Amino acid sequence: MIQYKDEQLTVFESQLYKTTSTVIQTEDCVIVVDPCLLPFEIDAIREYVMNIKGSRPIYLVMTHSDWDHIVGAGAFPEATVIASEAFKTKNQKDIVEQAKAFDDQYYIDRKIPVIYPNVDIAVTEDSQQVKIGNTTLTFYLAKGHTDDGIYTIVEPKGVWIAGDHLSDIEFPFIYSSSKDYIDTLEKTDVILNNHQINVLIPGHGHVTCSKKEILKRKNDGLQYIENLKKAIQSNADHEHLIAPYPYKRSLIECHAENVQFLIKEMEED
Ligand SMILES: [Zn+2]
Repeated sequence: MIQYKDEQLTVFESQLYKTTSTVIQTEDCVIVVDPCLLPFEIDAIREYVMNIKGSRPIYLVMTHSDWDHIVGAGAFPEATVIASEAFKTKNQKDIVEQAKAFDDQYYIDRKIPVIYPNVDIAVTEDSQQVKIGNTTLTFYLAKGHTDDGIYTIVEPKGVWIAGDHLSDIEFPFIYSSSKDYIDTLEKTDVILNNHQINVLIPGHGHVTCSKKEILKRKNDGLQYIENLKKAIQSNADHEHLIAPYPYKRSLIECHAENVQFLIKEMEED
């Protein structure tokens, strides 16, 4: 279940939705991001972290509040939890219920109960930093998919954890605001200018070490949103916009949700 590994960084890939979980070890701490998704996968991540951690503290970063990303947070009760300020005010019960509904659908049992994590450090603005010894975490608000997303940059390693943005296998899933989503994608250039990025990790899909690929994903995302809006406005066909993406039999539903969301958004404008 390991998609990418080097000395400091391990990216786990779930069997479901190619969801990624990230573990970064530095001299100062162990950073765990979105541990997920199936019980045995969360167990394996927990075991891995316990094996490497020594006396270092654990920081648990939540990229956003979607149930598939918070489902394993309960496995790290000792961790210092970092998420956005907006993450704190979500309907926590609803999100836990969504996870439980999924588990019931597939008869999944969990030893570690699904909990909505309590945030210890809240991210409120772009470029906010948390320094742990020589390790620096820099956060950017990343809204649009949800209204509580964050980007996390871990330095000096140069890792960018993007949550549910900049995927190579998913077009933008716009659940909170297309304007915010575009702003979030536009931050790509700011981040690439301000930081030496060596690895980008999306919430679903594949890690990339290429700046060119990061910019391609940004542009693909922007194109999708822009073209879909245009197509809706002119009543034109838009199914071809998801042609480059895999898993179409399922993703067509997410595309349809985007269409409904954008229609509503445009009516309100
Ligand atoms: Zn997700």
